[in-house]
Amino acid sequence: MPLSFPSAIRFRAGFLAIPAILCLLAAHPVTGESISLTVDLTKTPQKLLHAHETMAVKAGPLTLYYPKWIPGEHGPNGPISSVTGLHFKADGKEVPWKRDPLDVFTFHLDVPSGASKLDADFDYIEPEGGSATDKLDVLEWNEVVLYPAGTPAEKLMYEAKLILPEGWKFGTSLPVASAAGNQVEFKPISLDLLVDSPVIAGGYYRAIDLTPPGEPIHHEIDIVADAEADLAMSPDIQKKMTNLVAESGKLFGARHYRDYHFLFTLSDHVAHFGLEHHESNDSRLPERTLLGPDAGMALGGLLAHEFVHSWNGKFRRPADLAVPYYEEPMQDDLLWGYEGLTDFLGPMLAARSGLWTPEQYHEYLASIAAMLGPGRPGRTWRPLQDTATAVYGMGGRGWPTWRRGADYYDEGDLLWLQVATIVHEQSKGTKSIDDFCHAFHGGPNNGPEVKTYTFEQLVASLHAIAPYDWAGFFKEKLDSTSAEAPVGGIENGGWKVVYDDKPTRLSGRRGNNGDIYSIGLQLGPDGQVNDSIVGSPAFEAGITYGMKVVGVNGRVYTHDVLEDAIKAAKDSPKPITLLVVVDDYYQTSTVNYHGGDRYPHLERDEAKPDYLDEIIKAKVAGQ
Ligand SMILES: [Zn+2]
Repeated sequence: MPLSFPSAIRFRAGFLAIPAILCLLAAHPVTGESISLTVDLTKTPQKLLHAHETMAVKAGPLTLYYPKWIPGEHGPNGPISSVTGLHFKADGKEVPWKRDPLDVFTFHLDVPSGASKLDADFDYIEPEGGSATDKLDVLEWNEVVLYPAGTPAEKLMYEAKLILPEGWKFGTSLPVASAAGNQVEFKPISLDLLVDSPVIAGGYYRAIDLTPPGEPIHHEIDIVADAEADLAMSPDIQKKMTNLVAESGKLFGARHYRDYHFLFTLSDHVAHFGLEHHESNDSRLPERTLLGPDAGMALGGLLAHEFVHSWNGKFRRPADLAVPYYEEPMQDDLLWGYEGLTDFLGPMLAARSGLWTPEQYHEYLASIAAMLGPGRPGRTWRPLQDTATAVYGMGGRGWPTWRRGADYYDEGDLLWLQVATIVHEQSKGTKSIDDFCHAFHGGPNNGPEVKTYTFEQLVASLHAIAPYDWAGFFKEKLDSTSAEAPVGGIENGGWKVVYDDKPTRLSGRRGNNGDIYSIGLQLGPDGQVNDSIVGSPAFEAGITYGMKVVGVNGRVYTHDVLEDAIKAAKDSPKPITLLVVVDDYYQTSTVNYHGGDRYPHLERDEAKPDYLDEIIKAKVAGQ
């Protein structure tokens, strides 16, 4: 998920205590019988969901889990602190529970003799800025389910039901058994597919068919929003989203789902991110996204990425990220394949489908390259590999370029662009990244399934397309602590990163102000310092994360005033003077910078063929 989009995956605090051996032996669920789960959404406006679960049990100790390691989130992020009002009853009598002292996600019960059914009831508090508003809800089933220890998630069967607020409609890839009034019953399904199949529901809902002509598998986008007007997807965007579906078929030559749903939530009151699933994706953007001029850029940035995950991440998954149930820790070391390749293929498909123009693709690559260097200090201490391996323990507020965040997304994009250019070069133009995707992500459509891979298998798959020292290539890139920008793919593609004083032609986070490339400051709208690059002119002047710029050369701060000051300093020996609030003191900082405005762009290198634009050309005829 880039933050605007991919990197907007929610990072919650990591948990350090992981029991080495999870209780697999003491549970006494009755295997083979479906567990019934009813989720009541009627109190969504009060941000409270209610879950009722009934399972067959035998007398004796029983261990129940609340999902902890959530697929796609790459960390032990299950929202356990939102579970309240928990009660168990066996044949109508209250059964006490105890939390495991080593794992807050684990509950122990002693089922009394003679009991055959256990009822569980609890509320789930929708966190502020989470998944619910007055008018809509995104239901992730892992939030509202308990499951017995001892059986893999793919073997536990659930019969799920939903009770919706009056008049709400819903969208999901879950097969529906019946829907009447405000109640929906889904067909029995395994726990792993239930958790992989969220539901969006709301008072304002629209479904739009995105199936390209001749495509046998149904695709649609289901949209919920905080107002009716927000649902107005233009025919142009609808066409380009349909192109995206067609281009995905051309790229991979295979699909691994029964049908596909883009579950799209438009609200200013939910977290903005995307989460991938086999047969759907849960993508959330600001309320008026479809109404503005940048709809194509926004959808291409988020929805294309999450869609690619159906092949790369859900179907082909690093072996150590594929765990049999949600209490077993995942290992994140191959996220540069899971997320990095997705982050390359998503924008590529966005460009092939027309959601992005070639110029937007160029500007996007330039912004990534510029944010990665040269001179980004985080890269000198923390190799790319570590950003993947240690992702869930290394979040934290502020200092993003010094901590170095989840660079396996952005740098993964450039890494895989370089792979694409090497495949082209090594095969003397006879093979492309599409051939790799056909081979690696292809095969028969058996519906949602997982085919795992290791580093060695990934390298062997590339080698089969274009013989090369791929292991050496990846190791060099993954272990590097060079501050240089990883621009090999851009340069092999016939382009180079240049800086000039023309503002970046991108919107949103990617279009951030040029101050980060000039004086080294990333400022919020009110002058809040969101980052000060260690070693930059602003940092050397004493400005760091968390401070607030309130004055520029004696005037009250506005961003325009700062831009003017940066321009003026270019032709002047005088420094830029910033008045900064540090906790509850004022500080005057003298920034010695005379380089003028700097914004990154791509420029053609006429000495080389333009392979970059070849990669992003539409591959499906007639689009
Ligand atoms: Zn992703």
